[in-house]
Amino acid sequence: MSQQIADVALIEDLVQHIGEGAVSTDPTVLQSHSHDFGKIVDHQLPLAVVFAERVEDVQAALRLASAAGVKVVPRGAGTGVSGGAHAVARCIVLSLERMNRILEIRAEDEVAVVQPGVINAVLNRAVAKHGLMYAPDPASYRESTIGGNVATNAGGLRCAKYGVTTDSVLGLEVVLADGTLISTGRNTFKGVAGYDLTSLLVGSEGTLAVVVSVTVRLRYLSESPCSIAAVFTDVVQAAAGVVAIARVRVQPAILELLDIGTMRVLDAAYGSDLSARGGALLLVRTDGHGAEIEAGIVRSALESLGAQVSEPDDEEAVRLIEMRRASRGDGQDDQYRVGEDIAVPRSAMVDYMGTLDRIAARNNVMVRIVAHAGDGNLHPTFWVDPDDGTEGVARLDAALDESIRAALEVGGTITGEHGVGTVKREWLAWEQSEEVLELQRKIKAVFDPQGILNPGKAIL
Ligand SMILES: Cc1cc2nc3c(=O)[nH]c(=O)nc-3n(C[C@H](O)[C@H](O)[C@H](O)COP(=O)(O)OP(=O)(O)OC[C@H]3O[C@@H](n4cnc5c(N)ncnc54)[C@H](O)[C@@H]3O)c2cc1C
Repeated sequence: MSQQIADVALIEDLVQHIGEGAVSTDPTVLQSHSHDFGKIVDHQLPLAVVFAERVEDVQAALRLASAAGVKVVPRGAGTGVSGGAHAVARCIVLSLERMNRILEIRAEDEVAVVQPGVINAVLNRAVAKHGLMYAPDPASYRESTIGGNVATNAGGLRCAKYGVTTDSVLGLEVVLADGTLISTGRNTFKGVAGYDLTSLLVGSEGTLAVVVSVTVRLRYLSESPCSIAAVFTDVVQAAAGVVAIARVRVQPAILELLDIGTMRVLDAAYGSDLSARGGALLLVRTDGHGAEIEAGIVRSALESLGAQVSEPDDEEAVRLIEMRRASRGDGQDDQYRVGEDIAVPRSAMVDYMGTLDRIAARNNVMVRIVAHAGDGNLHPTFWVDPDDGTEGVARLDAALDESIRAALEVGGTITGEHGVGTVKREWLAWEQSEEVLELQRKIKAVFDPQGILNPGKAIL
């Protein structure tokens, strides 16, 4: 059978087993589901998009794809920024967006069980009624799915205090490449039975299995958090503010840093006057019963560094935090503009801020920085004028490479929370040894011997 005939037969089988309404070959749908927000190097359209509604649909799709030797790219909301959800040649995109039910909220146990397509903000709204929250809150929390958050081990603003996705995932149900359904992990906060497959699957970017249910740990929603906005002369001073907060041993729930470039972008978008106030901004939020006391300690620590500190009321604080969440902008990364995601030890952050400026100046590229500063996780966006053409692209690529090398030299990592996807694969061998890369290839082969699950992503 020719490949084309085999592909048509696969689509017919998918329709027969999963249902006509669940399988789309509409060119508009293929296009809209062919990529995420990461830079696209090799654009491919999928053969079809399968919209699973039940676990059995996922199992059927994987069984049929395995039999046909066709690749499968799992997909949540497509807000990834590393190309993890980019379609690959001759693949089906398996969308989990219709599996969007909250299956259980066990408020007494502080646990919820959700399908993978549940939007992060929807889960948070539902559990807030019980005085609880699902802590990991990527800036995309209004769009991104819990399944996508799990697959990327997403971070977020509240992760400064509450940890990243893996710290809130107790157990998973996943479908393996051959269609087998398994459960990993547990219902309890503690548990050490067997290897920790749940942690292995969290952050595996759809390369090991497809997540069909997630048991999450919930945390207490603070009733009266306190907020601080601290304006500094420049970004290096603001990074010093982050270190100062750690020195007084206060752990804010949110600790975000915005440089002047980011403040200008927000001013232009929202008509605010952030950039008129100073050269960099720290947004700090303390929570829990000691929120006010902690805010007072933070305030003194930052004032002693010369920051102009204000305490916005809750409405203004929420507005600032929401502006920060939008600060990346909605744009798709491309060859002229790339958002980075390195993380460095917090003590290295002050120097690294200066390093980024020098790298940008040396390569004649623009840079602006926003950071989950409490975690030492920086998102510098580098860009050049598209009119500079290939010469500009070369300068941009050189700056990106240098920024990654500089982060690794101070003990950092190439990706704090966005994942390797396709975009950061070229840098993975700079961070990990050949032995580790090979071990990862072997693990992948155990889960997915045919290599059909999201190939060319996450590992080398
Ligand atoms: C404006 C903006 C702000 C952002 N802010 C943050 C932030 O603060 N922190 C952060 O960590 N990220 C952030 N991101 C990146 C992105 O939102 C996260 O990576 C998010 O977790 C992706 O979720 P998604 O549902 O969109 O997944 P997708 O983009 O659809 O997929 C992401 C990866 O997960 C895999 N996948 C998806 N669902 C499943 C599943 N059910 N089973 C197996 N694999 C699956 C995909 O194959 C892909 O590799 C931001 C993105 C944008 C656009």
